[in-house]
Amino acid sequence: MKKLFFNKEQAEVMAKEYGTPYYVYDEKGMVEGIRRLQKAFSWNKGYKEYYAIKACANPHLIKIMMDEGCGVDCSSYTELMIAEALGAKGENIMFSSNATPAEDFVYARELDSLINLDDITHIEFLEANGGLPETVCLRYNPGGDFKVGNAIMGNPGEAKYGMTRVQLTEAVKKLMAKGVKYFGLHAFLASNMIENGYYASLAAILFETVVEVNKETGAKFTFVNLSGGIGIPYRPEEKPVDLEVVGQGVKEAYERIITPSALGDVAIKTELGRYITGPHGVLVSRAVHRKDTYRHYIGLDACAANLMRPAMYGAYHHITVLGKEDAPCDHVYDITGGLCENNDKFAIDRSMPEIEMGDLLAIHDAGAHGFSMGYNYNGKLHSCEILLKEDGSTKLIRRAEQPKDYFATFDFDDTMTEVIKKR
Ligand SMILES: *Cc1c(COP(=O)(O)O)cnc(C)c1O
Repeated sequence: MKKLFFNKEQAEVMAKEYGTPYYVYDEKGMVEGIRRLQKAFSWNKGYKEYYAIKACANPHLIKIMMDEGCGVDCSSYTELMIAEALGAKGENIMFSSNATPAEDFVYARELDSLINLDDITHIEFLEANGGLPETVCLRYNPGGDFKVGNAIMGNPGEAKYGMTRVQLTEAVKKLMAKGVKYFGLHAFLASNMIENGYYASLAAILFETVVEVNKETGAKFTFVNLSGGIGIPYRPEEKPVDLEVVGQGVKEAYERIITPSALGDVAIKTELGRYITGPHGVLVSRAVHRKDTYRHYIGLDACAANLMRPAMYGAYHHITVLGKEDAPCDHVYDITGGLCENNDKFAIDRSMPEIEMGDLLAIHDAGAHGFSMGYNYNGKLHSCEILLKEDGSTKLIRRAEQPKDYFATFDFDDTMTEVIKKR
């Protein structure tokens, strides 16, 4: 059974104070997760987690992570703005972008970020837009299939990211000739991996590659960036990743490949997003309609514009009917939002307790790629975000979007302005 970090009573109090739907985040859960991660990699001298801002871009949450010693992983201009506003600079920012606009590189260089280049052609592009730094990280794509043991976990060959093995050596030579002194190597080969062996397999590929490239070019690699990809158990029957096992697996690969090499100390960096916030954010929504036609539907006041993953990937998100945790799951429902899109369903054919109008439903594991993937289709507005603090109090960390926010990017005419004011 999947547990929540709040109960029905608390959920109703938040609903009364802030309105539904809302996202609520668990400070304690996030902090504990970060500490588990840091402990698992404490054997590595320079280890650092760069929280991937895109997973959940609320600065109140990112501040908590930075206070725990995390840096930030940015990939756009506005994500860099969040980093700057929180006082991050230099080695505390990893800029891992792709198809990067010139002004983003200029900004990233202004903040003296670590820059992770997605492509060999970005060398000249960065040189012309912000200039080359002393240290450059390169994004590698080994192509083909990515296997952990015998199982295929991803298809890097189909992915738009990173450079080929041949380009990698060429890029290093080019950068060395242009005066770059230190290097990092990055790859992101599979997403939402709940296998304990994922990071160790990825690390072994990256470690072997840095040793090879060092032999070929003499380049000094000071870090390896394992990127994101550690998964979370969305389904009740899935088990969480054992961070201790992950850390030890990477350590073994390090001692086997890096320790006997000429490289000396190589720092491990990670850019986890989902692992950090995913399980610690929940979307709470009220059941507002029940409809029995060819199927049984429950209509919520949240929709795919608030949480896109089920509609976009068919992703499973566990749903708890608050106050009915122990009731028998003897009804089968499709749980829908109100978009004029038939894929706007949080669950299909889900066995659940009987749902009455007014019940609050908690959609689990929405803390990553949830609010931040939200959109405004059908003129639907973003919900508010609430932080449940370690002391049990709650804090509104983003107000709900209002029609005036949605209409803020144009000036149409006076009638429009009047309607916005009135509503
Ligand atoms: C999305 C992304 C991450 C974070 O991935 P998670 O699956 O949330 O851990 C890290 N690095 C890069 C470059 C990404 O695009």
